[in-house]
Amino acid sequence: MESTLRPWLEAERERLRAELALLAEDERTRSIDECGYNSHLADDATDTLEVEKDVALERHLRGILFEVEHALERLHDGTYGRCESCGQPIQPERLAALPYARVCVACSQRSARRTEARR
Ligand SMILES: [Zn+2]
Repeated sequence: MESTLRPWLEAERERLRAELALLAEDERTRSIDECGYNSHLADDATDTLEVEKDVALERHLRGILFEVEHALERLHDGTYGRCESCGQPIQPERLAALPYARVCVACSQRSARRTEARR
């Protein structure tokens, strides 16, 4: 499994970095636009919405990138595939669905319940 996993994670990392670079590029282009056209109020409102969407997307991408990099480190350490919470092996089905999962299904559900309770 590991023979396909590492290239997959590395490809995913490159893809995420490329998307983040594109987003950063967009932001630069937009701030140049704003200097030229900041008298158009309607456009500004649309831009604000776009910026918010981008910020949410960027946060999402960074979160996944972080998990992907962490999974690569764990592959390197030899701790990949082991639950970070209880130390048991993570179910292969779960890893197939979410290759950068850190915890097993049981621990993931437990922490989801904890999050629920905190609300
Ligand atoms: Zn666990």
